Amino acid sequence: MLFIKTIKISKKIIIFTTILIFLLASIILFYSFANTDSSNNDNNLNISDNSTNSHNSDENDNSDKKNDFIKWVDFNVTYELLDKTAKLDIDSHTQNSNIKYNWIELLAYLACKNGGNFKNFKQKDLDTLLSELQKGKTIEDLTKNNKYYSYYYESYSAALGGFIGNYTVETELEDGTKTSEEKYGLKAFLPIAKNYAFSHYDDFGNSRSYGFKRTHLGNDLMGSIGTPIIAVESGTIEHLGWNQYGGWRIGIRSFDKKRYYYYAHLRKNHPYAEGLEEGYTVKAGEIIGYLGMTGYSIKENVNNINVPHLHFGIQLVFDESQIDSANEVWIDVYNIIEFLKKNRSKGIKSDTSF
Ligand SMILES: [Zn+2]
Repeated sequence: MLFIKTIKISKKIIIFTTILIFLLASIILFYSFANTDSSNNDNNLNISDNSTNSHNSDENDNSDKKNDFIKWVDFNVTYELLDKTAKLDIDSHTQNSNIKYNWIELLAYLACKNGGNFKNFKQKDLDTLLSELQKGKTIEDLTKNNKYYSYYYESYSAALGGFIGNYTVETELEDGTKTSEEKYGLKAFLPIAKNYAFSHYDDFGNSRSYGFKRTHLGNDLMGSIGTPIIAVESGTIEHLGWNQYGGWRIGIRSFDKKRYYYYAHLRKNHPYAEGLEEGYTVKAGEIIGYLGMTGYSIKENVNNINVPHLHFGIQLVFDESQIDSANEVWIDVYNIIEFLKKNRSKGIKSDTSF
C-alpha cells in the first residue's frame, strides 16, 4: 500500500516536472525563434544585393518603424470591378481625357466604401466617385478623412501595380528592321499561352495534405502537358529548380519587388524555356516553361501530381522579412486569372541580354 502510494506521488511529481520542463522549453524556443526572425531579417537586407540602396537606407532611417508594414491582404476584388476600373483607366489615358483615372485609386476608394469586401459593391459609389473626379476633386480630397484608404491603396498597388501602364511593342519587319510603338494599356499576360485550353475554379484556401496539413495558396490551372507557360509580368528570376512541393518551379519577382510570381509542377525532363537561370530577367509575355505534373517528392524530376496543371500564385512583399516566413502574404488570384484572359501571349522571343 505504502509502496503504491509512493509511486503515485512520484508519478505526480514526474508529470508536474514534465509540464514545467515543457513550459520552460517553449519559452526558450519562443525567444530564440523571435531572435532568429529578426536576425534573418537583417541578413536578408544585407544579403539581398537586389534591394536598392535607397530601400536599405530607408530601413536604417526608420528602424523604429521596421515592423510598420502591411501584414495581411484579403484580395477579393471581383472580376466585374477589375474589368470596369481597368476600362476606365485605360480609356481615359488612350482617349487623352482631361481627367485620367487610376484603377488602383478607384478600387482603393471603393474598398473604403464596402469595407474591403467587393461582394458589397454598389454602382452608386463608383458613379459618385467618378462624378466628383469629373468636377475636379482629387482622390486625395475625397479620401483625406478615411484612415483605411492608404492601406487599400498600398495593398492593391502591391497586387496590381505592374498590370496597367505604358509599354513598348516591338515589331520586326521583313527586312529585319525593328520598329517600336509606345502604348498604354494592360501589359500583364495570362500565364497559359494563347490557343491552349485550360480550366480552373476558385481553389484558394482549400486544404492540402501532402507533407503537412496546409492551405492552398494559389490557383490550379488544369491543362495539357507541354502547354507553354507565359511570364505574367516582367521581372527577375529568384528561384529556378526543384522544390519538394512545387516540383520543377520558377519564382519571378516584379521589378518593383512587390509581387513574387510562383509557377509550379512544370514538365518532367523539360520544365523550363531554354537559357533561363536564377538572376536573369524575363519579359512579360515570354515563354518561361511548360505545364506538367512534377512535385510532391523529395526526389527530383518525379511526376507525383495526379492531374496535369500549373500551380500559379502571387505573393505580396511589403517587407523582405515576409519572404520565407510564417507571415507570407499570398492572395487569391482566381479573379486576376479571369481578368488576364483578355491578354494572352503566344510567347515572345526575348531580346534581353542573357
Ligand atoms: Zn496548386
